[in-house]
Amino acid sequence: MSKGTSFGIPTELETQLARMIVGAIGSVEKVRFVSSGTEAVMTAIRLARGCTHRDKIVKFIGCYHGHVDHMLVQAGSGAMTLGSPSSPGIPKDFTKHTILLPYNNHNMLEKAFDKYKNKIAAVIVEPIAGNMGVVLPQEGFLKTIRRLCTKNGSILIFDEVITGFRIRYGSVQELFDVRADLTCLGKIIGGGFPIGACGGKSELMDRLAPTGKIYQAGTLSGNPVCVAAGIETLKLLKSKRIYSALGSATEILCTGLSETLIERGIEHSINRIGSMFTIFFRRGKVTDYDSAVESDTGMYAKFHNSMLREGIYLPPSQFEACFVSTEHKPKDIERTILAARKIKL
Ligand code: PMP
Repeated sequence: MSKGTSFGIPTELETQLARMIVGAIGSVEKVRFVSSGTEAVMTAIRLARGCTHRDKIVKFIGCYHGHVDHMLVQAGSGAMTLGSPSSPGIPKDFTKHTILLPYNNHNMLEKAFDKYKNKIAAVIVEPIAGNMGVVLPQEGFLKTIRRLCTKNGSILIFDEVITGFRIRYGSVQELFDVRADLTCLGKIIGGGFPIGACGGKSELMDRLAPTGKIYQAGTLSGNPVCVAAGIETLKLLKSKRIYSALGSATEILCTGLSETLIERGIEHSINRIGSMFTIFFRRGKVTDYDSAVESDTGMYAKFHNSMLREGIYLPPSQFEACFVSTEHKPKDIERTILAARKIKL
């Protein structure tokens, strides 16, 4: 299902890509194409609110879900706060239905469901957080969200703009044995071209216009260039069996980088899954936003600048994830480790 044309009739290309996504993600029966990850999230949230007739959305501190107004929210002083805007230009009223909770905190989530009984339309989560640096869900966290959403009639939205088709072919839902009600995907399903998608069970997706009353549309949705690029990308990802090689290359890289930091006595901790990782410059595990921001950002800046001078481009912030791609060959991994050995910190 797509509304790529003004008549809502999917093209052959759109149908082909939608079928590939449905075939790859067990919880997705229908797909709505949009033009970005932000739009995918907007669509999922409107759909969740429209289907539940509720307003509140639970979002986890440190997760990023695009630049839609009510998702650009920062935590207040309390641990379980209704958010306030994190950017000028967003009226306070627009974020008053966003409930902010710490990632990986089962108790706070349970308390939020008690406090806002029958008011929570959806919980949105990055199943593996990639926007406060890489932070993995702790054992049972995603299952707890699933259980509480089901118990309270709320929709579970997995924002897989980063994780979809990156960690494995399809989503990470199978990896954690948790099914989302709605899944958001982004640029990966277009091979980097501007595309996004929101997918889920037919009974939810059919509530979107034109079959349902919940409005969503977009002139550029299902753009044929992006969709064609997506089809070819997914074909390659499926046939080339890249994922275990990517994981191994990333593991070698992380081990090498960690060894050089240990040799110099620099405190750090690395979070990694598959081809995504972050070196946090702090002692002890990073499990949420609070522990991520305790990192020594001055040391990260030094590391970043020194590596840059060696020709290695790391993300410009401690809180962005590193991604290894198929274009990184063993010699590049080796060169990166050698550069880390060479630099002065
Ligand atoms: N969700 C997540 C998890 C993201 O990382 C991003 C951006 N990378 C978005 C949504 C927004 O996607 P876009 O920039 O395509 O709007």
